[in-house]
Amino acid sequence: MNIILLGAPGSGKGTQASMISERYGLPHISTGDIFRANIKAGTDIGKVAESYIKAGKLVPDEVTCEIVKRRLAEEDCKNGYLLDGFPRNIYQAEVLDSFAKIDLCININIDHALLMDRLCGRRVCAKCGESYHVSTLGGATTCAKCGGELIQRKDDNPETVSARLAVYNDQTAPLINYYTDKEIIFNCTGTEAPASTLFAVVSAELDKFIG
Ligand code: AMP
Repeated sequence: MNIILLGAPGSGKGTQASMISERYGLPHISTGDIFRANIKAGTDIGKVAESYIKAGKLVPDEVTCEIVKRRLAEEDCKNGYLLDGFPRNIYQAEVLDSFAKIDLCININIDHALLMDRLCGRRVCAKCGESYHVSTLGGATTCAKCGGELIQRKDDNPETVSARLAVYNDQTAPLINYYTDKEIIFNCTGTEAPASTLFAVVSAELDKFIG
């Protein structure tokens, strides 16, 4: 089964994606993670992506679509995959439709007033990617799961977050109608729910398809 996770930055997409990937054995493909790995490794793609990510803008479509096309052609995607952070605009969705068949789009709705605090207070494990909020860490600087160092993403600062939210509203939110029209959307809400509560809702829907 080929799934897209849609939602504003900070809606909890990444956390849901990890839980879905683990439960259903689907590869979790996050374009943001791919770009960050390329930046860390100093590749040409990383060099292109870095300035866009720092500014909270979208990396150019040609670069992003090519990366996803290649990744989906890999062996582990033969029986399905979970896309997190792609597509991010209508053009990318149309390109995706030209080489993939998407079965379900899970859209996480969230009250946008919460997002600035969620993102600016977010700390992520540099080793396993687990995400936390400073308000619940009690001063801890290491990951409770794997002991890795907790860091703040470079794009989780107020200025970049504002730009990312504007990009979401202008370019990504129209995808809700795009997938509603295709009748493959499942809407849920991430506002107050802890990740496990939202996952119970999401997995009940997925069980109908995957079992
Ligand atoms: P994320 O980890 O999904 O929040 O993505 C971090 C950043 O990577 C975004 O703010 C964009 O700059 C870039 N990025 C991730 N996915 C895409 C995409 N599908 N298209 C263009 N840029 C992307």
